[in-house]
This record gives sequence, structure tokens and C-alpha cells, in this order.
Amino acid sequence: MKKSDDASMKEKWRAAREKMEGEEIGKEAEKKKETKTPKGRKSGGELSFVVHEHHATNLHWDFRLEMDGALRSWAVPKGPPTVEGVRRLAVETEEHALEYGKFEGEIPEGQYGAGQVIIWDKGTYEPESVHEDKIVFVMNGAKMKGKYCLIRMASMGPKNWLLFKMKDKEKKE
Ligand code: MN
Repeated sequence: MKKSDDASMKEKWRAAREKMEGEEIGKEAEKKKETKTPKGRKSGGELSFVVHEHHATNLHWDFRLEMDGALRSWAVPKGPPTVEGVRRLAVETEEHALEYGKFEGEIPEGQYGAGQVIIWDKGTYEPESVHEDKIVFVMNGAKMKGKYCLIRMASMGPKNWLLFKMKDKEKKE
């Protein structure tokens, strides 16, 4: 065997081995991708939300997102935005039990928050990212639709957040 033949055989073997390894790596990546995709995401990934229009001493809207088995809540004095470009103050309030999401009616005089409570919007939402100071989620309600963001305004105190609707499709430059 000539030296050049020997070298070309080695080259062929190397290429074949790399191809095989590449395919194996590809298969592994495919497997990982599969296990990373949560099953039944359509139903499992959706959580409930409700917005209560609350005719208390000061009219406000209580925006409530199902999180960890409860309704995490924010009082929105001017109401949640339904269009882009509107930023609304949202003051975090105490969590409520999930069942409270169905409540509509009159909170009696003398009780905290006395006044009429109406469901302004309800439906499901999908959390996209939940961090300490920023929550991005996709709303699937009758009035609130599309991607939203809640961002904590640290400079205004720990309970003050801004709620706004985001662009549903980011434009690429
Ligand atoms: Mn309220």
C-alpha cells in the first residue's frame, strides 16, 4: 500500500466516524428536545385569571392571576390596559383563594372593601416568564388579549408595579 492510499483510508474512516458520531449526537439532542416539551401544555400550561371591577370608596379594578394555587392580586386604579402604549399603576394587594375568582356581588357596609364587585374580565393566561420583579404572560380573556408585562417599580416602593400590553410580534430590524 502506498503512503498516500493509507492516508486517504484514514481520512475516509475519520469522516465516517464523525458522521456516525454526529448522527448519535443529533439523536441525543432530539431526545432531549422531546423530554423538554411539557406534555399536555395546552391544558396544563394555562392558568386562570379574573379582573374584578370593584366599586369601593375608590373605584378600582382587582387584577388577579392564578399562581401557586392562589390568586396573586393587584389593584389597578385606572383599570388594566387593553391596548399597547398604556401603562397602568398596579398596586400589589393580598393574595386571595382561587374560589374568590368566581365572586360577584356586594361586599356589605362596614366590611373592608364595601361595595359592588363585578367580573370585568376572566379567562386563562399562560406565564411566559415569572421573576421577582418582572412577569411576562399571554392573556386569553375577552378584553385582555395578547402579551402583557408586569414590572415592579422599585423606586416607587415594593408594592408598586406597572401593567402594560406588549407588542405581540417583535419586529426584527
Ligand atoms: Mn378591591
